[in-house]
Amino acid sequence: MHRKAIKVFSYAQSDVARREPVALIPNSGLLGRDAPLTLLWTTAPLTSLTLLSSVLVVVHALCFVATAQTGVQDIFGRSLNQRGITLVDWEGYLANPLIKFYVLPPTKAVLPGSATLTVTGARLYFDSPSNVSASGPGKTISLASATVGVAVRLSVFPDHDSLDEDYTLTIVFTGANNVKETNTVPIHVIDQDLQRTNDFVVTGNFDRDISGFFTNATRRALVRQAADDWSYFFRGMNLDPVPAGSETTYIWSNNFNGGYYFSNTNNYTGYLLYAYGTTNSAHRSGGEGSYSGGVQRSAGSPLGIKRSGGFEAEIYGNYNTLGWLLITNDNDWLVTGNLGNQTNDFYSIAHHEIGHALIFNPAHPGFNTAKIAGAFTSAAVTNYFGARVPIDATDHLNGVIDPESGQGAFGYEYYGNSPRKRWLITKLDLFCAQEVGYALRPSSAFASLFFHASALPAAAISIPFSYSLIADGGIPFYDWEITAGALPPGLALDPFTGALTGTPTTNGAFNFTVRVRDYHETGVGLSQSFTMSVAPPPAVQLALSIVGQNADSEAQLLLFGTMGQRQVIQASGDLRNWTPMATNASATNLFQFFETNRWQFPQRFYRAVLAL
Ligand SMILES: [Zn+2]
Repeated sequence: MHRKAIKVFSYAQSDVARREPVALIPNSGLLGRDAPLTLLWTTAPLTSLTLLSSVLVVVHALCFVATAQTGVQDIFGRSLNQRGITLVDWEGYLANPLIKFYVLPPTKAVLPGSATLTVTGARLYFDSPSNVSASGPGKTISLASATVGVAVRLSVFPDHDSLDEDYTLTIVFTGANNVKETNTVPIHVIDQDLQRTNDFVVTGNFDRDISGFFTNATRRALVRQAADDWSYFFRGMNLDPVPAGSETTYIWSNNFNGGYYFSNTNNYTGYLLYAYGTTNSAHRSGGEGSYSGGVQRSAGSPLGIKRSGGFEAEIYGNYNTLGWLLITNDNDWLVTGNLGNQTNDFYSIAHHEIGHALIFNPAHPGFNTAKIAGAFTSAAVTNYFGARVPIDATDHLNGVIDPESGQGAFGYEYYGNSPRKRWLITKLDLFCAQEVGYALRPSSAFASLFFHASALPAAAISIPFSYSLIADGGIPFYDWEITAGALPPGLALDPFTGALTGTPTTNGAFNFTVRVRDYHETGVGLSQSFTMSVAPPPAVQLALSIVGQNADSEAQLLLFGTMGQRQVIQASGDLRNWTPMATNASATNLFQFFETNRWQFPQRFYRAVLAL
């Protein structure tokens, strides 16, 4: 490339009357280090740097607007006004965690004031008190302090698809002077649902139904869906097959008054669930494991769980005779609260009674042991809940709220800190199922926070650096921070994404510790120490050539840099004052610039320098 430059230069010498010094002059300092100068006789205006400064003006304007908004801050003290709130829809049809954030009045607001929060999204909900509707939830809070935020919690009702979703939180603040301020905050839902088949199979059998209740295909589908929602979380456990005729199950008559034993007519592996319509004076449904049947066995070893049971669906309604709502759409989760004076959601009640059939019933030896002890006491249960989980006389977890979702646990579905609508499995219910004898399949709600170990790639001064630290598990709204040491100057860690980016300005070895926390207020998170080396800047070189020798000729400047480096071609008429002509921001190592305004005088020198 030097050869090219010299060639061009000699052409310039022969054609141009006034000549300037021709030697390649080393530049001082970082700018222009290793950048040979090249002389040419043309010039042209350039706009890249102008564009850069307009971008900076826009960023400035955003920062200014932020101060007039109602503030939204997370549990780590970060402002969420620009970056937004992250919710998670865990794998499976499970009650999702409530995400807590703090709302602060706009600066200069006249207090006390109030803020109304709304989201356009039928499956989102705030903690109670709040309202839900098909057009989205709403919640109003009082704001009396300029410095102490009011805690609000937000979550999303699960769906069965695997698609992330985006929503907008709108906050309307009204001050004591009736002045309103409206602002919006983005909401992103991470959907962790995997479309996979169940390992643990529940076979629904409707042959024992003599009521006609299950001639309806939607009712049968809802029973199967509710059973699959539970068993989604269970491992296959390598269960032994159950031969035809070897499992007995009691089939109840109306009023739970007598019945008969029935033997399985087919081989199966997993759980055989007889669902049939019954009625009784209280209009209550039932569900239980088979007292007379055998326990599940895995490679011959007995487990604490039974292998069949029943769901007796009350044909007239749930504690009333209003009939049933047969709702299959996830968005319709809020249609009924399943109260005594309402038409109840058949899916909710099927969920609950199948929970009894599979887990919460003393027919299962594992449940019976816990019931005799009065509570679930396994380490998984107590670590999550913070205490033993009491079991009441009717096999319910009376008075127990699931810590992360704020929803009432099994048998306590009318309670909790979130709107009480369709009943859902909670994480605590599944830890109890594990204690009864079900092995839980790996799924996102049960994955602990994990910080993937990584050695950072080498960096160099002047080369833009970008590397993402990765964590998963826990409640995946992460907070990243440097807790010891310091990053190389020029680099920054994005507290929301774990991206380590910037252009290093100092060479050397740098030691620092990164901590990531998932969205648990009391979580200590996970830390890793890193050593990162930053090398001195690589060279940049410039070559020139002339295309054509007539009136249409133009100069071609070809710049050789290092991949990712940003270089600037500058021009000067006196070797003292340099004007930027073009910036290579293309992240390629070759950059071409055509100088077309060729008859300018005086002669021009060109050089390439590093942009920092
Ligand atoms: Zn119950």
